[in-house]
Amino acid sequence: AHLARIDAIDEKVHAFLHVDREGARAQARAVDAKRERGERLGPLAGVPLALKDIFTTEGVPTTVGSKMLEGWIPPYDATVTRRLKDADIVILGKTNMDEFAMGSSTENSAYGPTGNPWDLTRIPGGSGGGSSAALAGYMAPLAIGTDTGGSIRQPAAVTGTVGVKPTYGGVSRYGMVAFSSSLDQGGPCARTVLDAALLHEAMAGHDPLDSTSVDAPVPPVVEAAKNGSVAGMRIGVVKEFRGEGYQAGVMQRFDEAVELLRELGAEVVEISCPSFTKALAAYYLIAPSECSSNLARFDGLRYGLRVGDDGTHSAEEVTSLTREAGFGDEVKRRIMLGTYALSSGYYDAYYGSAQKVRTLIAQDFEKAYEQVDVLISPTTPTTAFPIGERADDPMAMYLADLCTIPSNLAGNAAMSLPCGLAPEDGLPVGLQIIAPAMKDDRLYRVGAAVE
Ligand code: GLN
Repeated sequence: AHLARIDAIDEKVHAFLHVDREGARAQARAVDAKRERGERLGPLAGVPLALKDIFTTEGVPTTVGSKMLEGWIPPYDATVTRRLKDADIVILGKTNMDEFAMGSSTENSAYGPTGNPWDLTRIPGGSGGGSSAALAGYMAPLAIGTDTGGSIRQPAAVTGTVGVKPTYGGVSRYGMVAFSSSLDQGGPCARTVLDAALLHEAMAGHDPLDSTSVDAPVPPVVEAAKNGSVAGMRIGVVKEFRGEGYQAGVMQRFDEAVELLRELGAEVVEISCPSFTKALAAYYLIAPSECSSNLARFDGLRYGLRVGDDGTHSAEEVTSLTREAGFGDEVKRRIMLGTYALSSGYYDAYYGSAQKVRTLIAQDFEKAYEQVDVLISPTTPTTAFPIGERADDPMAMYLADLCTIPSNLAGNAAMSLPCGLAPEDGLPVGLQIIAPAMKDDRLYRVGAAVE
């Protein structure tokens, strides 16, 4: 049914870069065979899923939305891919994304944009717009994203779906193409909080192949999602995340959510996190710095695209020509920014300062959690904007992640879930919940209570 739905509408939406019809059918048949043999099946056995094209899939193309890896077939599975298969989940295909996960609209994909199923002329968010559009368009009931600065939560918000950035280190990064290694985090996307929890449990947990993977039990997210309640909880509204630049209808729905939390028995207070206003600036130094280092591996020699290999160019020229042809504008911008910020003479002024801000943000969170159990804010300042509107204005694009970035810098857990439709445009609004590191279950407890 899901393959038929994809055939019917994905020509218009363009959520998928690759639909693995044969592979999906084979996986589904394998689940049936297991069931017939009376073997134990996982809670998500046979459920179809859309996988962001940043996770390696053995024998199935992985492009990361870039020309650089066009046609590359990975010889191995990412840990996340492997765990999905072990859970008997059926992988339908690979979803569209901003090139190397750099963007907030999926317009930076080298393979063309994705439309938001609510209004195809608008963006589905990014970088994981394909995964969220697949959910909103009912082409898959589950999807996977990655969140470096908001790429799970912001697409969830603007498509009216649920997206969770687990605690940093909660889900393995092995086989997840690196953008900014100290921020990157894979996580679940779904249409309900409980579905997200079931997927979270299937994909999370310690992995010896990822050196920053947390060696501790997965927080009890499914139990929390089944027992949604905020009675007696203390919830902090982030003071810095409102005011100028926030759409009126977004704030209206957010304020209604605050009222609902109070009615359900939570104590809601305002909390100030003054360093959050510097988060965007710090992120756009740290993320490009790490990206400029991580993307050095795309040299035209090891794998993927190779340009100028005709015997008339030196190896250095081949690398240069390959990068010129293989990387898009935003990726080049980030590599140049990062190389500059890390260069001697500028390192302390830029990268060093950004790292200090990162520490201040973590301290703001620590102070907040002395007073409250979770923090809340709108996920994004506005609803989905029209395709093309911010494409030539990187600063306007970066503002889409204003509220999501602090959690990546601090490494804690955060969720976006549907919060009604903005009255002025009828488009989905997202509510963000933020919990301390390794307390991911609190997101699900609160989310399930208000969903
Ligand atoms: N939009 C942000 C960026 O462009 C976040 C991306 C992400 O989370 N992968 O870097």
